[in-house]
Amino acid sequence: MTDYRVLDLAARRAQEFLAQLPERPVGPPVDPQALAESLGGPLPERGEDPADVVEHLVRGASAGLVASPGPRYFGFVIGGSLPAAVAADWLTAAWDQNAALFLSSPAAAVVEDVAGGWLKELLGLPTDASVGFVTGATMANFTCLAAARHEVLRRAGWDVEAKGLQGAPRVNVIAGEEAHSTLFASLRLLGLGDKTSTRVPADEQGRMRAPELADVLRNVSGPTIVCAQAGNVNTGASDPFEAIAPLVRAKDAWLHVDGAFALWAAAVPALRGQVAGVERADSWALDAHKWLNVPYDCGLAFTAHAPAHRAALTTGAAYLIASAARDPLDWTPEASRRARGFTVYAALRSLGRDGVGDLVARCCALARRMAARLQAEPGVTILNEIALNQVLVRFTPRGAGDADGLTRSVIARVQRDGVCWAGGTTWQGKGAMRISVSGWQTTETDIDRSADAIIGAFRAEASSA
Ligand SMILES: *Cc1c(COP(=O)(O)O)cnc(C)c1O
Repeated sequence: MTDYRVLDLAARRAQEFLAQLPERPVGPPVDPQALAESLGGPLPERGEDPADVVEHLVRGASAGLVASPGPRYFGFVIGGSLPAAVAADWLTAAWDQNAALFLSSPAAAVVEDVAGGWLKELLGLPTDASVGFVTGATMANFTCLAAARHEVLRRAGWDVEAKGLQGAPRVNVIAGEEAHSTLFASLRLLGLGDKTSTRVPADEQGRMRAPELADVLRNVSGPTIVCAQAGNVNTGASDPFEAIAPLVRAKDAWLHVDGAFALWAAAVPALRGQVAGVERADSWALDAHKWLNVPYDCGLAFTAHAPAHRAALTTGAAYLIASAARDPLDWTPEASRRARGFTVYAALRSLGRDGVGDLVARCCALARRMAARLQAEPGVTILNEIALNQVLVRFTPRGAGDADGLTRSVIARVQRDGVCWAGGTTWQGKGAMRISVSGWQTTETDIDRSADAIIGAFRAEASSA
């Protein structure tokens, strides 16, 4: 008889991990060699008992797990996982549905429709926008830009799906100076090149300057894609869509918005102004595994041009019987894939409209609290306006010391101490610590404890410098 008791064991081990999460050293130093040894060894000749496999995995992986879903992890833009979303993810694995076709999983297809619809409503996107569930914002950008490439070339009389870019009219790509690095990876995969775009200068918060975009657009003609951004990965600032959208529209160009995390601001009445006009774009990339706090991997591609989206991504094969209902594979680069709509559905149901707003607004309030606590310490400077959930911190030594060096050593000490975790960046030529508050578990107490740890590390490093 098939024995699935191993699932109970996995649930127990998972709950032990989650219970320890708040007090686990956040990003402990790891010895790669030791980790490789505890997980490595020869491929077993014979299969092992499932329970032994799970225990071995838990023991071996433990030292190499990062407490990134926990309350004091402020690296990158990560976000934790809501309990309902983790549970839905387990069911997704157990159900093992192939989300390619309606026929291969009617439930997966319908849940994607429902969750996609809820998201459009929540974010104020056009109700008839098309939706694809992808691995993350990188693939969401790719998907949206594939639709964009289709549409701008179709308007120029070119069938890019059939003929590729060989001999195609040139596609002008315009992107903000501060566009995310993964946007260029998408452009490269689409054959548009990652060095061919015209970059529009940004202001001191990293927002595209609309008058400079107008200058660039004045000198282009033909198929054109403009890539704007909601949420600079350092400052959290968004481009001025209200000024940008009409400029792009006047050129019959396509406006794409990489909104991986800051598009969530549209779900919060008090923050919506930061992304005002974003609904006037032609496509939007969004991450669910960041601020919606679903497990990896989950991003969404939305476009206001369903026919272009479908034409760019659809796969025609005789045995892939199309249904009258929506087939998810028509809207994503992949065919077979996990049914990642279930986690989005569960997260949205468990939070509700209010809950999404609270989560996003709370993270922003906590970011402001962190900035205020740190700024009170002489020698600590906040480099950005705390518009959203991102805080850039620079540490300056007394006298005329090396602030970049001190900032680097404070970051390293904070990471070693393990109370919280923050990474580093360079902002406008200055080294900075980068703090992103994106998880549902973070409380004011976590912020205060983390601020104390950061200030402690700064004092220790400043006095030994
Ligand atoms: C995180 C991020 C990305 C990349 O998203 P992935 O989910 O890691 O693929 C792209 N753009 C922006 C603005 C981001 O913050």
